[in-house]
Formats: sequence, structure tokens, C-alpha cells
Amino acid sequence: MNPTKAHDRLHFAHLPTPLEPMDRLSRHIGGPHLFIKRDDCTGLATGGNKARKLEFLMAEAVGQKADTVITQGAVQSNHARQTAAIASRLNMGCVLALENRTESNDALYLHSGNVLLDNLYGATIHHFPAGSDMDAAMRDLAERHKARGNRPYIIPGGGSNPVGSLGYVNCAFEIAEQLKQQRLRIDRIVHATGSTGTQAGLVVGFHLAEMEIPILGISVRLPKEQQEEKVYDLVKRTSKFLDLEEPPAREKIMVNADYVGDGYGIPTLGMLKAVTMVARHESILLDPVYSGKAMDGLLDIVANKGGFRDEENILFLHTGGSVGLFGYMAAVDAFLSAAPE
Ligand SMILES: *Cc1c(COP(=O)(O)O)cnc(C)c1O
Repeated sequence: MNPTKAHDRLHFAHLPTPLEPMDRLSRHIGGPHLFIKRDDCTGLATGGNKARKLEFLMAEAVGQKADTVITQGAVQSNHARQTAAIASRLNMGCVLALENRTESNDALYLHSGNVLLDNLYGATIHHFPAGSDMDAAMRDLAERHKARGNRPYIIPGGGSNPVGSLGYVNCAFEIAEQLKQQRLRIDRIVHATGSTGTQAGLVVGFHLAEMEIPILGISVRLPKEQQEEKVYDLVKRTSKFLDLEEPPAREKIMVNADYVGDGYGIPTLGMLKAVTMVARHESILLDPVYSGKAMDGLLDIVANKGGFRDEENILFLHTGGSVGLFGYMAAVDAFLSAAPE
């Protein structure tokens, strides 16, 4: 009953990704038992959650005989990097509209990490200042490419539309299967939420798999209410796309926006502590923009908010992005020299 099987899909992600315990981190925090779903290991250009979405999106692009893909994101966008990577292999052009959302002028932020890889894959990058209308920018670029005789396919920011969300509907079924194989009960899933395709897909997928696992999205940008509405909008559109009679209930959408800090892509002390703690206890690399802030939230709720019970099994979905650490070297370095242990 996995409805994504009826949809066109290319297979390039390394799936299923591992689902493993984080024993050392669990012992260290002395609370609930933590598990991790390694979607940082999807294989495409150092991995990440966009690979699952792109399997469905790029299948649609190929189906439409596109020769160029256009997408947008922040300068250190993981989605842009993974799109550039798969476009090369499919022999398509890749045009990236990158918004300097953090208004940084740090050379490493502007050129290293994901941007270095975008360039390595031969993507054409157009830079835009913070606050630009990025959807309009993509439409504009598409018109210019059409005028040149190209067949562009536009992928929305983060790959978050009903087609892209299928990647996470499918991931819910993958997790369900792994829990069965491992005879494991999971009480809660926690992950970073941004453009919403991950959370929306998981909510629809677990609804279809008839599994009641509360999913908490830790926002990396918008306030709670706004992010929940945005996730729910995509839940409804994805449900309709899959011909469900009813979408899952609105109450299934839970977002915590307490760990954004000063804004999207701006480092927080909690993020830097979480990235360091997970590296040193589990050898796992988180990222500064998404998974680091989500893990900060998870650890803070356990340590200070009493939100999760000690006997719970909590699954952290690692959505990738560690390449971004190189774009954020200034913040990481400053943190490590101030707190070497
Ligand atoms: C895009 C991204 C997210 C957010 O996923 P959405 O589906 O956009 O909500 C989380 N983590 C990483 C590393 C990402 O690149």
C-alpha cells in the first residue's frame, strides 16, 4: 500500500539508509534512548534529504524531456548542491538562483562548502540579495532559457512540492519496515523542518502506513504557527496528489521554533554545542543550518524542558548538510577556540 510505487522515480539514492542506536549519546544525556535515521548517507554528493525528493522530481523532469533544471536556495543550500550533482549525471544543465539570506560577506561562506561543490558539478550560479523574490527569479531564468531554445524544468526551493514529498512518504514506509525488522518501537521522530517536504511527506506516509508516531519538526526559519500552516498546506496538497479521501488531521503537524536563534542560517551557541557533542560521542557530523539546530532542540527538550519521557525511544532523522560546516568555518573555529573541551 505504498502509493509512491505507482509514481515515476529514478533510483540513485543509497537506500535504505541505516537506522541505528546512538548509545554513547544516550548514556551521556541520561534520558530517553536516542536512535538515528542516517539520511545524511543517501550518497548523492555527500548525501542529505534532497536525494529522496530528487528521485521523484528528476523522474518528472526526464519525463518532460527537460534539458535544464532550475532551482533556488540560500547560498549554502544543500538542495542546490544535490540538484547540481544529479543534473550532471543526467546530462542536464543546472541553473541555481542563490539568495544571500544571511547577508554574509565571509569568503568561505560565499565560496566553500556547498558552493564549491555546485561549481565542481558545473552549475551556473546567479546571486541574489536577501529578500529577493526567488520564485520570480526562477521564472525569469526559465524564460531566458526558453528563449535560447532550452527546455527548463523548475524545482521549487528545497524540492518541496507534492512530487518531491513522495520521497518522504516513501521514507515513512522504509522506517516502518526497519522498525519491524529490528523489533523496535519508536515513540517519536524529531527532525529539522524548512521548506516542509520532509515533514509533510513523513506525516502523509505514516498516516498511510497506519502508524501513530508523533513527528516534531524543529523550525530553522519561520515561527511555529506559520511553519505548521506551511507544512499542513503541503500535507493537503500531497494527500490530494495521492488521491486520499482525507488528509491527515491538522493536529498531526507539530513544530517547535525555539531553536532558530537570530534567523535562518545564523549560527547559535546551542547548535555549535550540539554539533560538537554529536561529533565527539557518535562520530556523526551534523550541519550548522538544519540538523545542528534540530539536535540542539532535541537535547534541550530532554535536558531542560521535560518534554520527553526517559523511557521513550526517540528517532532523530539526520537530514544531512555537513558539507555546510566548511562554509561556516569562522563560526565553528571561534566556538572551538573559546571552548576547546
Ligand atoms: C533542506 C534541508 C532540511 C529541511 O528539509 P525540508 O524538507 O526543506 O523541510 C533539513 N536538513 C537539511 C540538511 C536540509 O538540507
